Amino acid sequence: MSNYELETLPISRAEFQRLEIFKNVAFESLAGYLLGCKTIYPAPGTLLIDPEQPQRRLLVLLEGLMEVQVESQGGIFKNDIQAGHCAGEMSIFENVKPSAKVYAKANCKILIIEADTALAMLNASHDLCLNFLQILSNRIRNSNKMVCEEEYHIRCIEENAKVDALTGLHNRRWLEEMYTRELKRSNAGNLHLSAFMVDIDHFKRINDTYGHLVGDQVLIAVAKAILECLRPTDMPVRYGGEEFTIFLPGTSVENAKIVGERLRAAIEALPIPLPNGEKLSVTVSVGFTERKNEDTVEAIIKRADDALYFAKESGRNRVCLNLGDDTMFLF
Ligand code: GH3
Ligand code: MG
Ligand code: MG
Repeated sequence: MSNYELETLPISRAEFQRLEIFKNVAFESLAGYLLGCKTIYPAPGTLLIDPEQPQRRLLVLLEGLMEVQVESQGGIFKNDIQAGHCAGEMSIFENVKPSAKVYAKANCKILIIEADTALAMLNASHDLCLNFLQILSNRIRNSNKMVCEEEYHIRCIEENAKVDALTGLHNRRWLEEMYTRELKRSNAGNLHLSAFMVDIDHFKRINDTYGHLVGDQVLIAVAKAILECLRPTDMPVRYGGEEFTIFLPGTSVENAKIVGERLRAAIEALPIPLPNGEKLSVTVSVGFTERKNEDTVEAIIKRADDALYFAKESGRNRVCLNLGDDTMFLF
């Protein structure tokens, strides 16, 4: 039994042996260094590691609970540190602002090892070095994991912001980005590109007669039918209300005409179930056009919309092609 186990030592041998950082380390080899350390007893809520006031010291939690708080774009991430573990290891090696705050979450007993003492201890014990390395590598692994999870979370939020919640189709925000990109690509390569505007006929009447919820079911059914008529590379969007736009890359007007007619007929043939068991049917009007040199997204959509207007004026449940210069062809 050594002389170190007197009251002057901040921790007992038993406490020492329970600590992650001193695993496999002989108490005697470090007891001399511990003589210069102190223990503190912070109350819950005490800020122990403050990025605004960095201190180069290791906090070894003997009793109680600490909480790490990392602030990032995605919010504040919190993690508990249990008794036996430590915080502040990196401050021993570097003099930079800590990336996280650490609080006492309960009444704590903490051993404070100042950086100089910690470095001297590391010089004295290989096992302590190994423990440090292990703790640091765990920290790196965990923080990498956190960064990846956060990135994934942010990507999901961004993706969701581009999807219409009712129909699952993409929305205007997606359109602006993707249609611009597709049009640029088609303009540069002088490739075929057709654009559609589809609008449900007398949709207001459906809402007024059967209620908004049935209206929503109609929108879902029409969106599904549109998807089923298209190829995976086609780009359907819920443009707003009961209007849908579609970009069909690599599709000539001749083929677009076939798609437009197929779409119109498929929607007309849809049996949409009503809550009372009856079936409702709806029709759509379709306007379409093809890409011209130097086209913009606004211009191509406007031409398709003008064709849609013509289809509506011509009795609805029709497909109309706008060849530009307001030359309309009804099918
Ligand atoms: P038209 O044949 O000329 O297109 O007539 P319409 O009645 O379809 O067109 P109008 O623009 O007068 O009405 C569209 C309606 O769509 C009005 C609006 O309340 C409804 N609407 C828009 N968004 C939604 C939605 O998300 N759910 C439901 N149920 N209705 C919607
Ligand atoms: Mg309508
Ligand atoms: Mg409309």
